[in-house]
Amino acid sequence: MTVTSRTPRTALTIAGSDSGGGAGIQADLRTFFACGVHGLVALTAVTVQNSLGVQGFSEVPVDTVTGQITAVAEDMGVDAAKTGMLATAEIISAVASTLDEVHIGQSYETPFVVDPVAASMHGDALLREEALDAIRTELFPRATLVTPNLDEVRLLTGVTVTGRESQRDAAKALLEFGPRWVLVKGGHLYDAPDCVDLLSDGTRFVELSGPRHDTENTHGGGDTLASAITASLAKGLGVPDAVAEGKRFIERAVAESYALGKGVGPVSPFW
Ligand code: PLP
Repeated sequence: MTVTSRTPRTALTIAGSDSGGGAGIQADLRTFFACGVHGLVALTAVTVQNSLGVQGFSEVPVDTVTGQITAVAEDMGVDAAKTGMLATAEIISAVASTLDEVHIGQSYETPFVVDPVAASMHGDALLREEALDAIRTELFPRATLVTPNLDEVRLLTGVTVTGRESQRDAAKALLEFGPRWVLVKGGHLYDAPDCVDLLSDGTRFVELSGPRHDTENTHGGGDTLASAITASLAKGLGVPDAVAEGKRFIERAVAESYALGKGVGPVSPFW
């Protein structure tokens, strides 16, 4: 029997591993699969974690991180890329220059999403402190889209978001660092009845509103959203459409989240 195959679009995640399988590259690959794109990986760090938090992590050697990016980009091609946990300033700098070499980022045709992961929802550090500046100065200018949550917004810009107006201020402050688009995620504004995310390129300010689900199990939610957006960009959608698709995807993944372990369970992109 002849097998006829169609080569799918590819999405690259440059991120860390979660031993609990809820966030990091595990969430990214599950999401890419669910969105119908082939997932490629450049592993940056191995975390020791479960539903109660991150107990520690080791970084992958810098040459191994950049080697993975070059190997897959040169052979298989990358239709869109995203970063998650990058761990150190050294890894961030090396990733930034390797992305230039393989023509990924806002100056090229391949979209690049930066999810500026700094800490877990339990407050455990996933980034060495001195690395925040490298995210602002080396990754943001190359990003097609950055997707910070409100804690990351505060760390990166000093702006504390308390409502719609300060969410706009945060978007403007983030755009100063040079990304083409910014998505300021409002899910952590717990007193708001809906989750309102603000997407902006400096001229357009688009509010994307969705229902707040009554669940504690949101581990891996940020990774899943950024990956679903990246998958849509890999399929050729523009940023506003890709973000709207990603938002639909994460709403369903949160609605289908489940309890696992003694702490916080994961969102679930299985369907
Ligand atoms: N572990 C890894 C490897 C991650 O990349 C992330 C988030 O990006 C987390 C843990 C934290 O996920 P959460 O904040 O959803 O618990």
